[in-house]
Amino acid sequence: MTFPSLRDDLGTLEGYHSPQVDVPVRLNTNESPYPPPEAFVHAFAEAVASVPYHRYPDRAARSLRAALADFLGQPAERILCANGSNEILQAVLLAYGGTGRRAAVFQPGYLLHSHIARITGTSVVVGEREADFSLDPAAATALVTEHRPDVTFVCTPNNPTGTVERRESLEAILDAAPGLVVVDEAYGEFAPWSALELVADDRPLVVVRTFSKVWSLAAVRLGFCVAPPRVVADLEGVLLPYHLSVPTQLAGRLALGFRSEMEARVKTIVSERDRVGAGIAAVEGTTVWPSGANFILFRPAGDGHQVWQALLDRGVLVRDFSRMPGLEGCLRVTVGTPDENDAFLSALQEATKEAVAP
Ligand SMILES: *Cc1c(COP(=O)(O)O)cnc(C)c1O
Repeated sequence: MTFPSLRDDLGTLEGYHSPQVDVPVRLNTNESPYPPPEAFVHAFAEAVASVPYHRYPDRAARSLRAALADFLGQPAERILCANGSNEILQAVLLAYGGTGRRAAVFQPGYLLHSHIARITGTSVVVGEREADFSLDPAAATALVTEHRPDVTFVCTPNNPTGTVERRESLEAILDAAPGLVVVDEAYGEFAPWSALELVADDRPLVVVRTFSKVWSLAAVRLGFCVAPPRVVADLEGVLLPYHLSVPTQLAGRLALGFRSEMEARVKTIVSERDRVGAGIAAVEGTTVWPSGANFILFRPAGDGHQVWQALLDRGVLVRDFSRMPGLEGCLRVTVGTPDENDAFLSALQEATKEAVAP
């Protein structure tokens, strides 16, 4: 008996990991530190109790789409929902990538874009960000003009750097890109502007968003995109039938009724972000980058991985990017509750002293 061997082109792929360690202060995956409002949890539980479970869900998720359309002030035909925004990214690459096709990404950036590209057999073209992690419009347009990618990914605010792209840079890429431009706005609610305002029926632009972050629903797995209706139709064609469960659709629809609570969470997290950023900057020898998201990239004094370990020893888990090209020595911390942030800041003080001790 023999097992089939893994596809040759997948042999060298490493999975996408963020270690899930059980510690008191988990600030490594950019989730909301707050659960959704209690009234949402009750409404959801009640709705789930009376679902006709022997029937398939609404395949087109019409009422969720209509609710999102209303929420965003966009036509429902431009909206597509999926199991997390990652499933949207996968659908984009299934529809427009694949063998003989190319996707462009800018690094340092979100690793899942190139990871899903490789899984779908799409070649990846890599552009570099500037020293401040912004995109240089001239370099970015030169890249897409030379390589003619079928899909160009731009993450803004960029994970893991927190960088918010300038509108002019995005417009320059849109003008030059020969294929689809996908703007990943997983952290869009925290940023001062959104590419949603650039979506138009005649422009090959897709803006991707998620309920995993500020909506406090990472456990549900719900994301969506806003795109021209013809793109939405192409993406629907590659998704599995009935992919979006009834509870998922219900969760999204009910969550949208808690807009003011969501906006309040954004405000709290943004003000904590600014406080934590100032706190990190005050730690001797530390570099910190401005962030338009709910996390902060910083480079501690001393060896980055050693500081990561010293934080973990104190019960604080952050994300270790210290060995990633372009991010040498860097760590990323998610903004948590004020107590979690205080615990992180005091652990960072101690960990840094330990790391730079002679
Ligand atoms: C967290 C994150 C997502 C969200 O993925 P989901 O599948 O919606 O949970 C997407 N893009 C980026 C850049 C992220 O950081």
